[in-house]
Amino acid sequence: HASRTDGVDKNVWVEFTKLAADYKAVNLGQGFPDFSPPKFVQDAFCNAVSGGFQMHQYTRAFGHPPLVKNMAKFFSRIVGHEIDPFEDILVTVGAYQALFSAFQALIDEGDEVIIVEPFFDCYQPMVKMAGGKAVYVPLRPKADGAILSSGDWVLNPKELESKITPSTKAIVINTPNNPLGKVYKTEELQMIADLCIKHDMLCISDEVYEWLTYDGAKHVKIASLPGMWERTITVGSGGKTFSATGWKVGWAIGAGHIIKHMKTIHQNTVYHCATAAQEAVAQGFEREYEVFGTPESYFLQLPAMLYHKRNKLAACLQSVGLQPIMPEGGYFMIADISSVKVDLNDKRTEGESYDFRFVKWLTKEKGLATIPVSAFYSPEHSKEFDKYIRFCFVKEDSTLDAAGDILRKWS
Ligand code: PMP
Ligand code: GLN
Repeated sequence: HASRTDGVDKNVWVEFTKLAADYKAVNLGQGFPDFSPPKFVQDAFCNAVSGGFQMHQYTRAFGHPPLVKNMAKFFSRIVGHEIDPFEDILVTVGAYQALFSAFQALIDEGDEVIIVEPFFDCYQPMVKMAGGKAVYVPLRPKADGAILSSGDWVLNPKELESKITPSTKAIVINTPNNPLGKVYKTEELQMIADLCIKHDMLCISDEVYEWLTYDGAKHVKIASLPGMWERTITVGSGGKTFSATGWKVGWAIGAGHIIKHMKTIHQNTVYHCATAAQEAVAQGFEREYEVFGTPESYFLQLPAMLYHKRNKLAACLQSVGLQPIMPEGGYFMIADISSVKVDLNDKRTEGESYDFRFVKWLTKEKGLATIPVSAFYSPEHSKEFDKYIRFCFVKEDSTLDAAGDILRKWS
């Protein structure tokens, strides 16, 4: 085998999704809705597959034309920049492939990439497979007072700048963040943008949860800050946007001079993703353009629904003595498990970090699946953060209630 597969063979989703299924656990682990997408995109998908032969055949390599046109129209208004549908957008197989193409196209052997922790786990193996070196900067809980909100986790600008070297090519951020739920404020993004401009770095901004913010937190696109359009690759996901993670439609949006290199990777690897799924997402954006800002908009309805689910899960965790960190955005909530006293003497998990052992115990013995938070940290920092586990709340109320029953019974 090739050496690029060394050291990246373990995958938290492969491992814990199987464990949840094997034990038929109530699943607050992997991040996907256990309910259907909105009717307008489901109908669009059905109409697409039952339409003409074209929907079953190849479409344009870099994105089905109706999709890139509708996305350009939709996002130009949001970024405040006229997006060219054919130059500035690449449609990919999920946000995963947008990220993969970005690293392959932009990172050379020996380049350094700064990753803000906690981070969606695939950034690290993707940087490595491109020959780059990942350099980590953690978001740290503010030292003063109780840490109750994801907004209390911040970057230290000095620490961040100290990681930049002449080899630094890019920084990866994720807002709203998985797993913490932090939604970066404009000032925080401006600080990162200033460093990108000062040190001539690219910014890969993973915004798959862009519509999901709570309590008045506002999602801001770093690409919309002055001087950033030219150096930012914004990554998005139709799966997260329209609650259809299995469709695997994702995208990268950015300046044509950057996107063109990602197209080179894309045309020589997957070529394009499923035509009918792209058609459905195209119609989804068309509809959302028309109803934008009105109560009809799914981009308002979904966060409104998740706001209640977030509060329901938080109240449940608090009632059993698990202190959650309230997320300002996204699908997930992390909670401190250090107050829970359990016997984790399972021979099979010896030597593993505390949160991994705890999650395995909770899945096998109590039938509740979650995800260990140290999986979102580099080996250098994972020890400091192995007292947290992640709960997903994009679930039916009945699923959240079933999880609540398990927690209350055992505590
Ligand atoms: N980035 C983040 C932060 C994620 O949580 C996920 C998982 N949904 C992805 C990227 C990958 O998204 P997709 O399912 O569209 O490939
Ligand atoms: N993004 C999802 C999560 O964080 C899952 C990704 C995956 O299953 N590969 O839970």
